[in-house]
Amino acid sequence: MKIQDKKIAIIGGGPGGLTLARLLQLKGANVKVYERDINKDVRLQGGALDLHTESGLAALAKAGLMEEFKAQYRPDAGLMRVVDDQLKIHHDDHQEGKKEDFGDNNHRPEIDRGPLRQILLNSLEADTVVWDSHVLSIEKIQGAWKLDFQNGTSTIADLIIGADGANSKVRPFVTAIKPYWTGITMLEGSLKDGAKTAPVINELLKGGKLFGYGKEKTLIVSAKGGGSFGFAASFKSNEHWAKESGIDFNDHQQVLAWFKRTFSEWSPAWWELFESPDTIFIPRPQYCMPLDQKWEANANITLLGDAAHWMPPFAGEGVNMAMLDALQLSEALTSPAFSDAKQAIAYYEKQMFARFANIGQVTLFNTKWMHQPNALKVMLAMFSKNKFKQGVFIFRYAIQTGIIPFIRKVFGLPHSQEIFR
Ligand SMILES: Cc1cc2nc3c(=O)[nH]c(=O)nc-3n(C[C@H](O)[C@H](O)[C@H](O)COP(=O)(O)OP(=O)(O)OC[C@H]3O[C@@H](n4cnc5c(N)ncnc54)[C@H](O)[C@@H]3O)c2cc1C
Repeated sequence: MKIQDKKIAIIGGGPGGLTLARLLQLKGANVKVYERDINKDVRLQGGALDLHTESGLAALAKAGLMEEFKAQYRPDAGLMRVVDDQLKIHHDDHQEGKKEDFGDNNHRPEIDRGPLRQILLNSLEADTVVWDSHVLSIEKIQGAWKLDFQNGTSTIADLIIGADGANSKVRPFVTAIKPYWTGITMLEGSLKDGAKTAPVINELLKGGKLFGYGKEKTLIVSAKGGGSFGFAASFKSNEHWAKESGIDFNDHQQVLAWFKRTFSEWSPAWWELFESPDTIFIPRPQYCMPLDQKWEANANITLLGDAAHWMPPFAGEGVNMAMLDALQLSEALTSPAFSDAKQAIAYYEKQMFARFANIGQVTLFNTKWMHQPNALKVMLAMFSKNKFKQGVFIFRYAIQTGIIPFIRKVFGLPHSQEIFR
């Protein structure tokens, strides 16, 4: 297929959209990325992301960006400590040490979202990203698409790719399938100057990650570059908790009071995460697309990343899947094996559906156990040497062979829509 003849519009400049733009430009495609942020610096970028050899790193390697990645990643950011709600350490990567390196299947180097985005932006031709382009509506006009933006402008494209994240505007043009509520809310926090603002947590964190489990709740803290922390407290809740709670999330005193009430059995040493007026809080209700989702391929529109398969972040796979989607979609669209875009999109979507069915299952499994009373025990069992190796083996085998549904039956793992019923 001759991709060079098509005007391609990618909606959304997250890791998925930018990776796709880079990979398509390497093949000579005419690509623009329409991003709602008014510029690259306007929004605080989230916490550290671990990239996996077979997905996120594979996409970066194909994009010719591994050297840039190696210059920016943070080697110790993945070192993890597992604690209980009283901050007692039960597992410590700092003591055990990490032996994996690039090329090893289990190597999962961490990079902050900001530097990852910058690497991808730097790799694109000038003016590829059109900032301040919040897509408000999409219309089909004589086999092409008209995109209308909030700033009053519009554009026409032959092929559009929805890479616009969890609440995708493009998704309804591809499928009527909707995400469903998982029963979990995550309150995300971004805290400046962790050493000063949260000294006790900083000492435990040691520049890595802290996973806290207790009383059906989870609190994960990760050190970011420049001394800031990203953290997320997650708990069972009603779907509309963020609104119904009446909390003003711009008022840290209200958030702190809520944390003291809701995490009342957790050590007060955690409170320091919520005590700074500079900390930014964002409530994130957790939804998931149905694991068995499928749709008929279209000739000139598709989805990738969270837009295609939004799921909770409890398996650390979201960014990796978005980047692998970008790799597989770019290869399909530029492959001589397909005579038209519909065939190429169908081939890509088939792989994407199968991957999500498996990874999504693992994600929902994690979502469930992390919010059960025995979460710490489950986590420690995964780390106990033999069981961990065994777990990794089963997981990899399951992913490769697609036998997750079989494992689910044997071990009683949840189906997509029944996590907390
Ligand atoms: C608290 C938290 C922690 C996470 N931790 C991890 C982790 O450790 N590992 C991991 O792999 N994943 C993690 N994830 C998930 C991960 O962030 C996502 O899966 C990943 O960012 C998806 O990439 P994407 O490119 O598909 O979408 P996004 O990163 O969401 O990017 C979408 C882009 O589209 C833009 N956009 C949206 N709507 C429009 C519109 N109408 N018009 C124009 N532009 C638009 C947005 O501004 C954004 O730039 C986490 C998520 C959260 C919330």
